Amino acid sequence: MIRLAVISGKGGTGKTMVTAGLAALNPRPQLLADCDVEAANLELLLSARQVHATPFEGAETASIDPDRCWGCGRCAELCRFGAIAIRDVVAVCEPRDCEGCGLCERVCPSGAVALVPRTSGVVYQSATDCGPLSHAQLYPGNGNSGLMVQTVKRQAERSADPADLLLIDGPPGTGCPLISTVSGTDAVLVVTEPSLAGLHDLRRVIGVCRRFDPRIFVLINRWDLDRETAARIEAECATLKVPVVGRIPFDPAVIAAVRAGRPITTTDSPGSRALAGCWEALRRELSLA
Ligand code: SF4
Ligand code: SF4
Repeated sequence: MIRLAVISGKGGTGKTMVTAGLAALNPRPQLLADCDVEAANLELLLSARQVHATPFEGAETASIDPDRCWGCGRCAELCRFGAIAIRDVVAVCEPRDCEGCGLCERVCPSGAVALVPRTSGVVYQSATDCGPLSHAQLYPGNGNSGLMVQTVKRQAERSADPADLLLIDGPPGTGCPLISTVSGTDAVLVVTEPSLAGLHDLRRVIGVCRRFDPRIFVLINRWDLDRETAARIEAECATLKVPVVGRIPFDPAVIAAVRAGRPITTTDSPGSRALAGCWEALRRELSLA
């Protein structure tokens, strides 16, 4: 099975629109994973139907037993995240501020503190017309997004359905969720746009991907909005020896399809035809049937 992640160096490039379109274009059995766990929305474009939901316990938090606490204040004094306050001679932990480092548990003289699992999101399995979709929602303010991405990928791969392709909608940026997404993939498609920020972030994300050795391809979305910068991106890709496999023009039909919550490939438009050309190029490069 080929593992292909659609990623972008920055948000707003149209990455999820591209992923949904590729999913709809692939006629062969495939598995889908949305690893943009902080803002997952592939399910909206694929009209996903939820099959099951599992709480995600990615981190621990301090729990203080008020019956054993002496109120000595040692934990509050040493917690560098300010997560503990003393109220009425009893320590109270604010889970939102706790990083789960465990220092309070170690220093407490009365054994009142224990680290307990914290539910920091939900992992979903859904059905779509394009194949089973694994996705998740990380609750605001919670960490461990990289671990959650791994959980989403593992759940997708455990599917009993045979498949030639695992198609992943990755997160934007170059942080922990991206690294977790790219590790173990065979190929990545970087979606960029013709702007200086797009060019800058494209360089950064290619640099990160090169540490993991997937094949790297580039797609320029809305390329005709700034042809000069699009040409600079193409020249940069040639220098970096990264093939540009698609150029999607600005197309109001794309915006209309996204607003309607359906893949762009369900319409006949310049954007849809350009994405179909990109899929053909990727299919050939990755030897997909
Ligand atoms: S586990 Fe660490 S961050 Fe959380 S309350 Fe204890 S000392 Fe503070
Ligand atoms: S260190 Fe232990 S006994 Fe002291 S305030 Fe904190 S929880 Fe209570």
